[in-house]
Amino acid sequence: MERNKIKENYFKILEYINTLKIIDTHEHLPCREEDRIKETDVIKEYLSHYFNRDLISAGLSKENHNKVIEEDIPVIEKWKIIEPYWEYARYTGYGKALTIIARDLYGIEKIDASTIEELNTKFLKTLIPGYFKKILKDKCKIETSLLCVETIDTDYDPAEERSAICDKELFSPVYMLKDLIHPYLWSHFERIERQSGIRITSFSRYLEATEAIIEKAYSLGVVALKNSLAYLRSCKYERVTRSVAEEDFNQIFKTKHMSDWPISYAATGKNFQDYMFHFILGIANKKNLKVQIHTGIQEGSGNILSNSDPKLLINLFLEYPDVTFDIFHMSYPFQNELTVIAKNFQNVFIDMCWNHIGSPNASVNALIEWFDTVPLNKISAFGGDYLFIDGVYGHLKLAQDNIAKVLTIKMEEGLFDLDEAKNISKLLFYDNPREIFRLYSN
Ligand SMILES: [Zn+2]
Repeated sequence: MERNKIKENYFKILEYINTLKIIDTHEHLPCREEDRIKETDVIKEYLSHYFNRDLISAGLSKENHNKVIEEDIPVIEKWKIIEPYWEYARYTGYGKALTIIARDLYGIEKIDASTIEELNTKFLKTLIPGYFKKILKDKCKIETSLLCVETIDTDYDPAEERSAICDKELFSPVYMLKDLIHPYLWSHFERIERQSGIRITSFSRYLEATEAIIEKAYSLGVVALKNSLAYLRSCKYERVTRSVAEEDFNQIFKTKHMSDWPISYAATGKNFQDYMFHFILGIANKKNLKVQIHTGIQEGSGNILSNSDPKLLINLFLEYPDVTFDIFHMSYPFQNELTVIAKNFQNVFIDMCWNHIGSPNASVNALIEWFDTVPLNKISAFGGDYLFIDGVYGHLKLAQDNIAKVLTIKMEEGLFDLDEAKNISKLLFYDNPREIFRLYSN
């Protein structure tokens, strides 16, 4: 196929993709727009995660990092501190997302010393009600975003208060399991007591509280559970006996007398954590629930990458066949391992949330390979995974571009025609996540 024809196909596919409704499989935005932090500036908000880590990796000191994130100094002064590192990192996926945001949302071609103040002035004007809807609905055409919620500590009446835990016009809540599996402060136990209405006086009562919370979460409209513990521990969850787990659990009472200290630890051991995830998966298996699991790259500086290898989860995939496992971040950089796992397990799905900014090129290459290896219903193409609203837009544009590139390559190989390319793009961005999370009411 000649070059012009290839370009033409790419633009035709991209044009179609830009019209598609999107299901966004993963976000960390505020549960309601009114919770958005207003005392901010463009540097503070855009460096709240991701790109700040590239700057630190490039050499920005922790001290200077904290200065630009925490202190109230003019943005031009902040820029001078970060500029050398920004220049080194500007072409990473995180950097590209910010470039797209500045260009498309604020009409600024390049973020640099001459434009940072203008960008900030324009950015501050977005701190008004209705901006979330403008970005998520009007600009991104996102039907719903699956949003992580850490607590369902709310006085609710299921009949009246349907949007108790988040803004349901924008979001579908996903309940974070980290407190239930890995509590380590007394405040975590107190939060579990508040959410469940059950006083934790024994391991049996803890298990009761866990069941009650999961039931309540679903009555409030939660669509999936999420395990993000690869940040704190290995993804290997052994099957342990209840008595061993209970022995671990009983350790927490040794620090009960400190529970009103500002920070009071109530450490639980690995046996307890392993037991709890199996216990929760037992409930999930009985009720055919969906469980999202963090694998691969950990946000932040440092951490132990081998803890997040998806191979460590295989015993769970085997033992809980009726749970739908949505595996985050295509396990990057373990995407080859996840490819084979998703091919071999009916209950394992690949989720590309975070990936198009984590590594645009790895995302393209993985998708190219999946055409050879993985049935097309196993892949969800987009989850913004951002803490700040503009990031969702920047990420989506990279994702749409990546999918268009891959589909063009496959068309060029003669695998399918333009109509089929369009059908596949709709599967990846909309039909698959809708089916995986059964979002039929939307
Ligand atoms: Zn996330």
